[in-house]
Amino acid sequence: MKVVVIGAGIAGLLVAHVIGGDVVVLERDKLSDEPRYRAGVPQGRHVHGLLVRGAEIMEDLLPGLRQELVAAGAYLTDAGDARLLNTHGWAAGGRTGLPLLTVTRPLLETHIRRRVTAKVLDGVHVTGLSFSGSTVDGVLTGDGRIDADLVVDASGRSSKLATWLAAAGVVVPQPSVVDSRTGYATRLYTAPPDFPAVLAESLSAPSTPRGCAVMRVEGDRLMVTAQGAGGDHPPRDPSGYQEFLESLRLPVAEMLRPAEPLSPVYLFARTASRRNAFEDTRSWPGGLVAIGDAVCSFNPVYGQGMTVAAMEALLFRRHQDFSAAGCVSFQRRIARTTRSSWLLSSGADRGWVGDARPGPASRVFAWYMKKWQIAITRDADMFRRFIRVVNMVAGPATLLSPVVFRRLMVSH
Ligand SMILES: Cc1cc2nc3c(=O)[nH]c(=O)nc-3n(C[C@H](O)[C@H](O)[C@H](O)COP(=O)(O)OP(=O)(O)OC[C@H]3O[C@@H](n4cnc5c(N)ncnc54)[C@H](O)[C@@H]3O)c2cc1C
Repeated sequence: MKVVVIGAGIAGLLVAHVIGGDVVVLERDKLSDEPRYRAGVPQGRHVHGLLVRGAEIMEDLLPGLRQELVAAGAYLTDAGDARLLNTHGWAAGGRTGLPLLTVTRPLLETHIRRRVTAKVLDGVHVTGLSFSGSTVDGVLTGDGRIDADLVVDASGRSSKLATWLAAAGVVVPQPSVVDSRTGYATRLYTAPPDFPAVLAESLSAPSTPRGCAVMRVEGDRLMVTAQGAGGDHPPRDPSGYQEFLESLRLPVAEMLRPAEPLSPVYLFARTASRRNAFEDTRSWPGGLVAIGDAVCSFNPVYGQGMTVAAMEALLFRRHQDFSAAGCVSFQRRIARTTRSSWLLSSGADRGWVGDARPGPASRVFAWYMKKWQIAITRDADMFRRFIRVVNMVAGPATLLSPVVFRRLMVSH
């Protein structure tokens, strides 16, 4: 089977690796052998937290990747060493035994690309799908057409799949969108000695629209991403950016005093969570599947995207049937794989969307999350449980077990 994958991001590279055999990845950007920021992945300039579960899957698919990244300068710490501040105080902290890598997106992506066995053709912009009857039989590019028995759309948030399908008369359902109107502003600094590997203040609707995530990354640098929700975006000019950092409860401005800025401030604001219910399309064509952000993208403050992409690559490995019916059932399985991450991020963001009368489910969700936010500041065991769920090594159902429910009720 000849497979064409559109996009050499995290989802495209990992899925091409598990397919093996006759597969080619088409990437519109020119790629470098060295880690570089690139136009097709503008998010690469901002903090990219790789959750523990995502790193585990990548290690499983590409054995030795973690050590390669560490050798290239990435940091390896315990997930419980992250210094986290929420509306109710500092998280308790404590060792979890979960290894957490901190690394920039370009370094991670370059190392994955070096290890992936599939052929990657760069500088190829896919402009549409080619059809034979109701089946996709290739892709259109600026230069012509490339044949495929199966096309995998992994072109990310900017995917044009819905438009391409509409041109062929296939109407996909309107996407669900939850937009917290969060803006990112990121600057690199030299890392003062003993600066924590991860330092963050979380946003919380509606009381805490400002936050920050700092990661120690290769090259002995700090990546400092200021975050503002509800339209309260951090600015690009360095003095406004500095004022934004000083306005936080997190003492990050103070902690950065000995650090030297190494870059301008970069902005990004297309952060809405968006879910395409491709599985509900009435006449989904054979020969086509979609994965990664092209199907479901999350508000990046929750750091889920790369891990969900890795989980989908595993799903692809298990799903053997890519007949017309098999493609539809694959999209259903993708929808199930993204469901809990979607519920978590979109549920937490409902408070930003100006819902004057939140429904009972939203109110219960907000109340329960507040209980958790309090509990993790007071109880190291509850903190460890929470960190396991946030890093996707345990399912969200573990936050609802009777034991933890009783303990939450005694937190104030
Ligand atoms: C600001 C921001 C911060 C983020 N932070 C995190 C984080 O902390 N942790 C985390 O896990 N995730 C984070 N994410 C999400 C993460 O980047 C993605 O979920 C993850 O990379 C998987 O995406 P993907 O592979 O589907 O798409 P991408 O990684 O975006 O890759 C898509 C690729 O397709 C290519 N492409 C697009 N159109 C075409 C075309 N027509 N023809 C050929 N090639 C094409 C693009 O150039 C690109 O290389 C963040 C996202 C944003 C926006």
